[in-house]
Amino acid sequence: MIEMQDVYKKYKNGVIAVNGIQVRIEQGEFVYVVGPSGAGKSTFIKMMYREERPSKGTIVVNGFNLSKLRNKRVPLFRRNIGVVFQDFKLLPKLTVFENVAYALEVIEEHPKVIKKRVMEVLDLVQLKHKARMIPSELSGGEQQRVSIARSIVNAPKVVIADEPTGNLDPDTSWEIMKIFEEINTRGTTIVMATHNKDIVNTLKRRVIAIENGKIVRDHERGDYGYEA
Ligand code: ADP
Repeated sequence: MIEMQDVYKKYKNGVIAVNGIQVRIEQGEFVYVVGPSGAGKSTFIKMMYREERPSKGTIVVNGFNLSKLRNKRVPLFRRNIGVVFQDFKLLPKLTVFENVAYALEVIEEHPKVIKKRVMEVLDLVQLKHKARMIPSELSGGEQQRVSIARSIVNAPKVVIADEPTGNLDPDTSWEIMKIFEEINTRGTTIVMATHNKDIVNTLKRRVIAIENGKIVRDHERGDYGYEA
């Protein structure tokens, strides 16, 4: 599903954020990406959805060679990738329904299909009853659930999440993790950067640890391995 070979990322200011990474993530895996702040986790996962391009090396995601992908084909590539952020990134003036429907409207999906699909994913995140509200009327956890619904409305093969529980209290974080587990159970690959030690050590999954732009550990059912 995701393959990186000899990947480097040097930013314009000269910082080498990713310094020679090889990795292979299979369809259906659930992978935590851990490591100290500034280690290169965000850069590593931003390259997976082509928010950043590698300075060197090859990245293939869902059959797209991102090192060669033209800008005009990026929207096509992104249709099969869901992305979830720490700060939700919902459109503040749109309702919950409209925020989730947006990705389907862009591809001119039939309104009936949009309605059905949006209600299905809002049901999965248990927010059908709040479909007409706007983000500021929701709690942080609810906003994150909307953003997860948005990320999966296109039925992507992979969901990439950068610190999705970073702004949430422990109970709410666990609710969010249950939703990611459910999505993964349905066959979607999940790659998640996180600092949440309890979650990583309890919901045992593959753990990739990054330090100074390199993978220093990659264990099936691994531990967080740092102090929280
Ligand atoms: P992490 O997610 O592990 O905290 P990042 O990937 O955000 O790590 O950052 C890795 C390094 O790259 C840091 O030194 C950071 O300051 C630097 N960096 C991140 N984004 C940029 C950018 N857009 N321009 C320049 N340097 C950056």
